[in-house]
Amino acid sequence: MKLQHDITIALTKGRILKETLPMLAAVGIEPREDLDASRKLIVATTVPQISLVILRGSDVPTYVRHGAADVGIAGKDMLLESGGEGIYEPLDLGIARCRLMTAGPESAASMGDDRRRVRVATKFLNVARAHYARKGMHADLIKLYGSMELAPLMGLADEIVDIVDTGKTLAENGMAPRELIADISSRLIVNKASMRTRHASVQALIEALAGVVKAEIA
Ligand code: AMP
Repeated sequence: MKLQHDITIALTKGRILKETLPMLAAVGIEPREDLDASRKLIVATTVPQISLVILRGSDVPTYVRHGAADVGIAGKDMLLESGGEGIYEPLDLGIARCRLMTAGPESAASMGDDRRRVRVATKFLNVARAHYARKGMHADLIKLYGSMELAPLMGLADEIVDIVDTGKTLAENGMAPRELIADISSRLIVNKASMRTRHASVQALIEALAGVVKAEIA
């Protein structure tokens, strides 16, 4: 891939990175360092115009929104939580699939929507607020940064809003999924200004990755 413009791609450590690197490699973009061994946060690639920055998942939309990175790969959960302002979302990469759900103790799984008030622990405050508002319920939201499953067990909350993949984490903690809020996968996002000012290069990158997604579906 030969590009006219310099492009910075923001990525997330962990599962998304692991599933993203083979897709980038398929279009000829490979990091010049071993990302597992290196502590560098900005990494050059085999395409001289493209560099990678490795961030926390929730920071990827922020860097792209402000144009500090032109392009990013972020979970739809992060995008729903942070809002779409300043960002285009041109491509569903179909990786890191999971579901954003409400969940609660198994013993209380039949709790109905007649509850008017519910205590909810989550790191997805905006998603949770919108979800319970749609249902006409008042949610007392409690912000947590991890181990959401613990909150109902400890009497901190009635329910959680969290990512569910196999459901194993919930089951092992005596919890069950309740309502689906959104199906999640990783998306390619682009800063709106970069889409104009670096159009040829951004478009080439989108099309190349779209080809990989298509090939993987086929
Ligand atoms: P599971 O036990 O398979 O349902 O996995 C649930 C836990 O894994 C959640 O608490 C999430 O933090 C994490 N997880 C699973 N899939 C993803 C994903 N695609 N993106 C981010 N976190 C995930």
